[in-house]
Amino acid sequence: MIIDKAEVIVTSPNRNFVTLKLTTDDGLTGLGDATLNGRELAVVAYLTEHVVPLLLGRDAHRIEDTWQFLYRSAYWRRGPVTMAAIAAVDMALWDIKGKAAGMPVYQLLGGASRNGLLAYGHASGTDLPSLFDSVRDHLEQGFKAIRIQTAVPGLKAIYGIAAQAAFTGGGEERYDHEPARRGAKPVEEDWETRPYLLHLPKVFEAVRNEFGPEIPLLHDGHHRMTPIQAARLGKDLEPYDLFWLEDCTPAENQEALRLVRQHTTTPLAIGEIFNTVWDFKDIIRDQLIDYVRGAVTHMGGITALKKTLDYAALYQIKSGMHGPTDISPVGMAAAMHLGLAIHNFGIQEYMKHGARTDEVFQQSFTWQDGLLHPGDQPGLGVELDLDEAGKYPYEQAYLPYNRLSDGTVHDW
Ligand SMILES: [Mg+2]
Repeated sequence: MIIDKAEVIVTSPNRNFVTLKLTTDDGLTGLGDATLNGRELAVVAYLTEHVVPLLLGRDAHRIEDTWQFLYRSAYWRRGPVTMAAIAAVDMALWDIKGKAAGMPVYQLLGGASRNGLLAYGHASGTDLPSLFDSVRDHLEQGFKAIRIQTAVPGLKAIYGIAAQAAFTGGGEERYDHEPARRGAKPVEEDWETRPYLLHLPKVFEAVRNEFGPEIPLLHDGHHRMTPIQAARLGKDLEPYDLFWLEDCTPAENQEALRLVRQHTTTPLAIGEIFNTVWDFKDIIRDQLIDYVRGAVTHMGGITALKKTLDYAALYQIKSGMHGPTDISPVGMAAAMHLGLAIHNFGIQEYMKHGARTDEVFQQSFTWQDGLLHPGDQPGLGVELDLDEAGKYPYEQAYLPYNRLSDGTVHDW
């Protein structure tokens, strides 16, 4: 089973996606997600110029060997571009192996450890009534866990709040947060931490008063706080029993979480911008987090993220895989197969893709009673319609960035 064709496909149905498609000499195909939000073309170049020529002629069965070859032979290790490229190869090879075996990928990973995957959606609002409407909408869609993001008085634009309703194709209009915006330059947003710290506990109090104590609620701090600010927020939110507080500090400094941990019992999740187990090494070993936010797409694929999650399992730390719309349907399928198979699954982020995206990527996952399941098609269960993909060429898009009121650039 020799790889004899490797294509890099860029399409932008509702947003930009980068997909690697491998074809073997016996005609099997595999897909891998290589989407790196806002820096997509860097991964396209990495794959096209440096990886595709190395794949041709290799044995498609040798997943671990190919992973080690791509990681170690580059000499320059880690980093989001490299690891997204390796992830795409890894996913495509698992997809091919599943098709060769006639089994869904989760069966190859040890079989299902549960019936389905608890998933959380993104509720947001510019004020309490619109936030409550968004929570109700998610409850009606069947979500059993909900992330709460809210505007802060005095700040114009905030991470996690939809700026406007978006037309997603197929006559569908949604009020969703899609942070990457099409255009030649990133959008500038504003931020001040003090009003946020004052406002957020009041929002969670109001949500608990309206919807009761049962529903798991989550919140994303998006790397904006110092350790002592994050520690205070964690303490202030304890009465509202969060499922997790996510990305409370900039993630590069693993030691920062020790200070947060010393002060609060609010569970912590981090790692959506991490690329390898080395970014998680200390915070897992020292039990400074409760959930690993790494995505299959950004952590070097199923092979590498499974090892990280197996390591986390030693410390009762669970998965909380990143899953907004910039994870393509291929990356989401890989996350679902891995999440179904591992013992220490925690929760899966799930933000539905737009109608055009669902036409480009034909998927076999199910969403029932608040649980995701990857389906039982051989491989990952996703096929790419090249004709549909060709209708939507790449469009420049960037994530926004933040400035404080005095003009200082701040973490977005
Ligand atoms: Mg996050």
